[in-house]
Amino acid sequence: MSIETSGRRRLGRVAGVAAAVLAAGALVAPAAAAAPSDTSPATSAGKATPVSVRVIGINDLHGNLQPPSGSSGRVTVGPKMTVDAGGAAYLATHVKQLEAQVHNSLLVSAGDNIGASPLPSALFHDEPTIEFLNDIGLDASVVGNHEFDEGYRELLRMQFGGCSPTDGCQFRPKFSGAKFPFLGANVFFTNGVPALLPFTVKVTGGVRVGIIGVTLHDLPSVVTPAAVAGLKFGDEVAAIDKTANLLDKFGIKTQIVVMHQGDETEPGSTPNSCNVNPGIGIQIARAASAKVDAFFTGHSHQQYNCMVMDPAGQPRPVIQGLSFGRLLSVVDLKINRSTRDVTRSATYAHNEIVTRDVVPDPKVAALVDLAVSKSASVGNKPVGSITADIVRAAPASGEEPLGDVIADAQLAATANSNGAQIAITNPGGVRADLTYAQSGSEGAGVVTYAEAFQVQPFANIMQTITLTGAQLKAVLEQQWQPQPGGTVTVRILQISSTLHYSWSSSAAIGSKISNITVAGVPVDPAAKYRVSVNNFLAAGGDGFTVFAAGTDLAGGLIDLDAFTAYLTAHPNLAPPTATGDRITVLP
Ligand SMILES: [Zn+2]
Repeated sequence: MSIETSGRRRLGRVAGVAAAVLAAGALVAPAAAAAPSDTSPATSAGKATPVSVRVIGINDLHGNLQPPSGSSGRVTVGPKMTVDAGGAAYLATHVKQLEAQVHNSLLVSAGDNIGASPLPSALFHDEPTIEFLNDIGLDASVVGNHEFDEGYRELLRMQFGGCSPTDGCQFRPKFSGAKFPFLGANVFFTNGVPALLPFTVKVTGGVRVGIIGVTLHDLPSVVTPAAVAGLKFGDEVAAIDKTANLLDKFGIKTQIVVMHQGDETEPGSTPNSCNVNPGIGIQIARAASAKVDAFFTGHSHQQYNCMVMDPAGQPRPVIQGLSFGRLLSVVDLKINRSTRDVTRSATYAHNEIVTRDVVPDPKVAALVDLAVSKSASVGNKPVGSITADIVRAAPASGEEPLGDVIADAQLAATANSNGAQIAITNPGGVRADLTYAQSGSEGAGVVTYAEAFQVQPFANIMQTITLTGAQLKAVLEQQWQPQPGGTVTVRILQISSTLHYSWSSSAAIGSKISNITVAGVPVDPAAKYRVSVNNFLAAGGDGFTVFAAGTDLAGGLIDLDAFTAYLTAHPNLAPPTATGDRITVLP
């Protein structure tokens, strides 16, 4: 028999029993009613029966309404074993199933619900994704960094509704906003006034559950400066502690944190493993107030299910469920009715795979279908025009015409805001050619949003770092990477018009680069240069580890937004005529 029960009914029964006892003049309460144990059977008096509350978490959905494809739509469940997962209509069914197994549940998100989204959501400023989250009954979400992609004002529109100031209401006749609160206990205006709600309180099973939201304190490093102008982001632990104490004063003893911060895992991690490289996520979960009973985390797009000790030596779960709606993080809490607090030893947490073998939720499926069909026409929106094909195929130097354009676009997007002098991008991030031939209903030479999206589909974030001249040379030398077995992997980075250099085909690896200039001036090894790269390279991706040593990191636009802005600002864009002049090959 389930010990979950409707709190209201049970409390009513307890009140009735108490009244009867008093009426009978009994001075000694029945033993069962006084039993402090929370493991008493459900037939004992209600006060002793724990309330079971299931909290279901999502994180980093990123507007993935359709089932994500490729490796983004798979979950590793064992050595060389994966399961296809994700898709809003399947997720909705899984949520309903998990909710149906219990009497009391809450649904929360650890952020990045929106932003960096596929076309069906992105084209409508993520309004379809907010509608989806409303439909599945999300109770609360913390703000991730991507909730700020289009700035604080747009975040307020996501919360309170209204049509886009630039594009109007293109998805539905009106947009009513989120029915759940966006939380951020460590998000302030620069004068110190809170810019978002720090917490929300939900009543379920007759108990109050405090939900505290905190986002990454270094959020400004992963968004464009304009998006967070006038805001500041405080320490996560300090914000949790302050909010937890406040909730405690209100008598709210059951507290959970939704946190847009998380850790990386070791290769081979599975949904319920805890192969975490303990990073900031685990550190926060260990250090923050012992009043918090569970942490739902995000941002790192990893799968883990860990227990850590709080400062009082009690265990509490720290859980994350990959990204794009592939996993649901489930934490089952047992709450003592007398103390209104969680019996930690009875907490059970697991990650549930959003498999695609369930019946898709019909209402959500209809919403997704509408977003997909409507996006086909909105995707034809012109964002620029070209006079001829601009392709990725490169001469011997490795300098690609389209690579030139993208690097120039990335420099243009970060020169004023971040003081960037050069931009460098990875060739693997340029995914398709821009073709002159008519593709859809638009005329020849017109570049549509959908076409630009095919070129830059990863929604990488632009970041500007400071490198010394010596580091700039070192990272260019990393274009040749010796591999085990004696082969060499060559990846020629794509560079803006402000950077020129030569490489030697005969020189040894590590000594190939010479004649580096920035804006026509020879590079001084000791001087500092502001360099814009995407967040993949900034983290040292593709073996370009020198980028990770960059300093003074400032965030920027999503790469696609930088690209479309450049195309719009340069109509009738011709392929760079002097392809090969930025990079010269020497014997
Ligand atoms: Zn994030």
